[in-house]
Amino acid sequence: MKRILTVIGARPQFIKAAALSRAIRESFSERIEELILHTGQHYDTSMSEVFFEELSIPRPDVLLDCGGKSQGKQTALMLDGIEQILTAQQIDAVVVYGDTNSTLAGALAAVKLHIPVVHIEAGLRSFNKSMPEEINRITCDHCSTLLFSPTDTGIANLVREGFSAAIPERCTVDAPGAFRCGDVMYDNSLHFAAIAEEKYRIADFGIGREFALVTIHRPYNADKTDRLKALLDDLSWLASARELDVVLPLHPRTRNQLEKEAPEALEAFKAIPGVKLIEPVSFLEMTFLEKNSRMIITDSGGVQKEAFFFHKPSVVIRTETEWVELVELGAAELSFETGEAMRAAFDRALGKEISEWPSVFGDGNAAAFICEQIDKRL
Ligand code: UDP
Repeated sequence: MKRILTVIGARPQFIKAAALSRAIRESFSERIEELILHTGQHYDTSMSEVFFEELSIPRPDVLLDCGGKSQGKQTALMLDGIEQILTAQQIDAVVVYGDTNSTLAGALAAVKLHIPVVHIEAGLRSFNKSMPEEINRITCDHCSTLLFSPTDTGIANLVREGFSAAIPERCTVDAPGAFRCGDVMYDNSLHFAAIAEEKYRIADFGIGREFALVTIHRPYNADKTDRLKALLDDLSWLASARELDVVLPLHPRTRNQLEKEAPEALEAFKAIPGVKLIEPVSFLEMTFLEKNSRMIITDSGGVQKEAFFFHKPSVVIRTETEWVELVELGAAELSFETGEAMRAAFDRALGKEISEWPSVFGDGNAAAFICEQIDKRL
């Protein structure tokens, strides 16, 4: 029996962890025991509690309180908290997801104690080191023993950074294994879309016509008041000129900025017919909204991919993406400049005929593959 510690702390990680917990429960409960540590990075109910309940993730065995601090302080507190657990418990591997401070802290704490790190969503690069996420990804990959990349691009990035494409029978931090395994989020989208379709109707969300689903939370969008106001203008245009509902589950970071710095702009935006400004929704609700939307506008890493899973064209409000396949296939368009250019990108997305997109994110069984490798290679 291998005893793993899953370290999570942010919304996308709760969702990703659900896939692995499900695979362990269904097929590996005799070989893998999972403890869950929640760092507290996202701590309010809408960003955390609701995900555990709905996604059937076992309650965290350990809950730290590391939310809402500066990057350095937050990571330091997490490191200390995780290290204490790792020294008190017998743990065979630490599993981390993606690219947050919780990922970084989990990886650093474990590798220094010579405990193998399993990084899920390895190899992704935006090639923009001003994003804290990019620093976290690179550091975490280089501390890892098992690296699971959702895409071929991820593996190519790792090979460029010196990882071997050959996979050792037994892996160590000095002889790591990098696997292309598909995307645990694709596992989840398939699993939860069926449940969501049963549970919700469009009318539950007060939506009366075709709609664009929008999320905005990256600091370079959410923390800049003028930019945020310009984005709201473009979304208002979409609702008025293109007669689409615009559904925006507002991330707390973005809401805080608007409430503090531009309350009139926020009120004016809410008053536009067709604009539905709502609280962050649960993953099931989000899945339902994505599946039933006409198009998706987002700066989220996860949401642009989910748009692809559900064959929705997306406009990604960023200058780069680690999910380059989406852009290469024409599913997503990067668009950063507000005004005319953004509106033209909205129009291009609306004009897209979505036929079949190739399945670049695996077959929906990534989590089971990961469990197999943890069992076999460590
Ligand atoms: N999500 C959600 N509710 C929302 C907004 C997003 O469940 O109101 C989900 C979304 O479907 C995706 C994940 O949260 O799976 C993405 O998280 P986020 O955008 O915070 O982070 P990123 O993917 O950019 O790291």
